[in-house]
Amino acid sequence: MNQIALLGATGSIGTSTLDVVRAHREQLQLYGVSAHRDWQKLATICQEFTPNVAILSDESVAAKLDRSAFPAETELRFGADALCDLAVEKPVHTVVAAIVGAAGLASSYEAAKAGKRLAIANKETLVVAGPLVMAAARESGAELLPVDSEHSAIYQALKSGEHREVAQVVLTSSGGPFRQKSAAEIKAATPEEALNHPTWDMGPKITIDSATLMNKALEVIEARWLFDLQADQIDVVVHPQSIVHSFVEFQDGSVIAQLSPPDMRLPIQYALAYPERWTAVAPRMDFKTACQLDFSPPDLERFPALQLGFEVARRGGSSGAVLNAANEVAVSRFLRGELSFYDIEKVCRQILDQHDFSPTPTFEELVALDDWARKETILWKS
Ligand code: NAD
Ligand code: MG
Repeated sequence: MNQIALLGATGSIGTSTLDVVRAHREQLQLYGVSAHRDWQKLATICQEFTPNVAILSDESVAAKLDRSAFPAETELRFGADALCDLAVEKPVHTVVAAIVGAAGLASSYEAAKAGKRLAIANKETLVVAGPLVMAAARESGAELLPVDSEHSAIYQALKSGEHREVAQVVLTSSGGPFRQKSAAEIKAATPEEALNHPTWDMGPKITIDSATLMNKALEVIEARWLFDLQADQIDVVVHPQSIVHSFVEFQDGSVIAQLSPPDMRLPIQYALAYPERWTAVAPRMDFKTACQLDFSPPDLERFPALQLGFEVARRGGSSGAVLNAANEVAVSRFLRGELSFYDIEKVCRQILDQHDFSPTPTFEELVALDDWARKETILWKS
């Protein structure tokens, strides 16, 4: 029985993970779950799955919640430190990192150090601290299984050859809600328009990242560390149907892709079942109906945030932590109506240029830079 700690159980990835657990109860068991504030939703999850541990990472919730809404067998814990403690607990075999933002970093890092299987949706972990997390996993023997659909596709396609035989990987991007909009229309985009994603139903932060293409920028950085690639081995192509989840091109010119309808339950299940493959919980391809797959290069002028991903993947060091923190704050300021759509890229670039670059930062230095970049971005005016 695979005992799972699901960190971020109430979010979009959390909900899809629960579907996978429901469909494979003989193999999977929820040992622990977490939410930040939504104790009612977490209580409903606990009523169904009776995990050993439930965490509310916002400590202040302790004073408000109704203990009787949770099963008596479930131990309640509070605060961010509880996430790290759960991630390393002995019975836990797999940690599903489904928290949004750098708030998910510490628990992912602990899981990697403790030799757990880390099913990683929280791409910010690798953007901020890719080299440290990968080194920790190498040392402890932890298996890192990507949940991001593109990286799951690459992980699967890479099995067709040796690492030294890889020419490049090409990440696909739906293009987001503004794929066909003019620069002027994008400039005036409202939060409502940006939150309306054409192919994926996700949490608000990653949905805005998908509209700016910052999500793809973060994924370029994620791929750089996860697969030990050079920045110039990574490319991006726009593919509006979101059926081909990425490509790996080998030196002989062969291109291997992974295809499936857009549904996160497949990459989540793959990460939990690996190295096995289990019966699908997500819908499968239907080749009896005509279907079209389109590909075109991304437009860096209308989507300048994507360029930041290539630059940060090339530079490494402390730049991922700074880009990520600035982006997290800029996205929440955009959602509050304080910044315009293109301000997100503008502030990220400025904070990145201003920061005191370090080529080999420690974990503590990354946390300090994250804090600095957040403060600068809160004060930034266009
Ligand atoms: P979401 O906003 O729907 O859910 C976030 C979860 O994290 C919730 O359970 C919430 O309670 C918890 N959380 C929020 N702030 C927290 C904090 N400060 N401390 C601890 N927990 C906190 O987000 P999501 O769309 O599920 O995305 C989760 C992660 O997965 C992100 O890193 C995202 O980039 C990645 N991802 C998501 C998708 C998708 O389809 N949703 C696809 C690929 C990758
Ligand atoms: Mg993705």
